[in-house]
Amino acid sequence: MNIHEYQAKEILKKYGVTVQEGIVVDNPEKALDAAKQLNAETGTEWYVIKAQIHAGGRGKGEVKETGSRGVVLAKNRDEVVPKTEAILNGTLVTKQTGPEGKKVNKVLIAQDVYYPGESETKEFYVSILLDRATSRNVIVASREGGMDIEEVAESNPDAIIREYVDPRVGLQGFQARKVAFALGLEGKAMKEMVKFIGALYRAYEGSDAAMFEINPALKTSDNRILAVDAKVDLDDNALYRHHDLEDLRDYSEEDPLEVEASKSGLNYVKLDGNVGCMVNGAGLAMATMDMIKLSGGDPANFLDVGGGANAKTVEAGFRIILKDPNVKAILINVFGGIVRGDRVASGVVEAYKNIGDIKVPIIVRLQGTNAEEGAKIIDESGLKVTSAILLKDAAERISEALA
Ligand code: GDP
Ligand code: MN
Repeated sequence: MNIHEYQAKEILKKYGVTVQEGIVVDNPEKALDAAKQLNAETGTEWYVIKAQIHAGGRGKGEVKETGSRGVVLAKNRDEVVPKTEAILNGTLVTKQTGPEGKKVNKVLIAQDVYYPGESETKEFYVSILLDRATSRNVIVASREGGMDIEEVAESNPDAIIREYVDPRVGLQGFQARKVAFALGLEGKAMKEMVKFIGALYRAYEGSDAAMFEINPALKTSDNRILAVDAKVDLDDNALYRHHDLEDLRDYSEEDPLEVEASKSGLNYVKLDGNVGCMVNGAGLAMATMDMIKLSGGDPANFLDVGGGANAKTVEAGFRIILKDPNVKAILINVFGGIVRGDRVASGVVEAYKNIGDIKVPIIVRLQGTNAEEGAKIIDESGLKVTSAILLKDAAERISEALA
């Protein structure tokens, strides 16, 4: 599960990670109050206005309607409201959003932390993530901060520092010092970075995250280390023990059909093709998608209804598939093991009647326990549902339906 920058910064602060302070707003009038409050709390007279969407590259991105960037600097308080208006409720297109962009529902008004002082500011990359190959958490860091880390990894792989953490003992002090040293820091900035990495690691572990990425982590001109940006990926499988984090989920950032499916306990991934499919079991679902391809169609989705498919899950699956306007035919492919073929068939017939007026052809292929009884129920239902027992027959029916 992904969360917004402003939410990630709240988690970081709780664990003692120093961050660029900000206040999130959803209307431009509140932006002025936010700026005043930041001025009172931090003394800042410049402000950064940052679009809150689940995608990076905002600084270089562009708001379709106004041409504004997704991260802009306001050099006095009067600029804050008009610059917020140019971002809020607009559609931000970045390298990561695709050409359709993402609607900006919230904006973070933040303090400017790139102020001049005794030394230069410097941007670093610091992240912690799970390395599946070694089954360890790894700290990844680089002096080449503020830019696309994938590009750095490709063009200058030596610029990437990796420090693996042994799960038996956790992050050791020497490891944080090693990373800070490799980043070229010394004196106060070095000590601050060591603290920063330690706190970041506690935040990562404490929230059962799969990734905490700080890009940039900024060394300010007075040698503090601050998280200016924060991208967090939480482990969905651990959310049951973090109900406070569960509440951070922003459904408006996700595909609406996938949200609906997850609420019904279905495993659904939207694809671009024209044949909707509903299958029990992930392996069979993948084999079914291959078969759709072979029969001349293209899968419109991946949908695994799970082992305990019943009339309710079949109906929920139907409704989700039918909301996709690209769907020209639906293939239901169920192997009766625990679930019996006749029950699935009754479920399909019942769901079909409940929804009513389904315009696309439906092919149901049943195999396994009570497959023949199931096919009989479908054939005798009087509905425009075609049954098939062999995979080959189902494929032929799809070809016919698409012709
Ligand atoms: P991203 O583009 O989505 O990764 O958003 P970031 O939060 O990383 O911000 C993009 C860029 O805006 C940063 O790399 C900085 O160069 C710039 N930026 C962020 N905060 C400040 C700030 O306080 N002052 C100034 N002058 N620039 C900032
Ligand atoms: Mn960034």
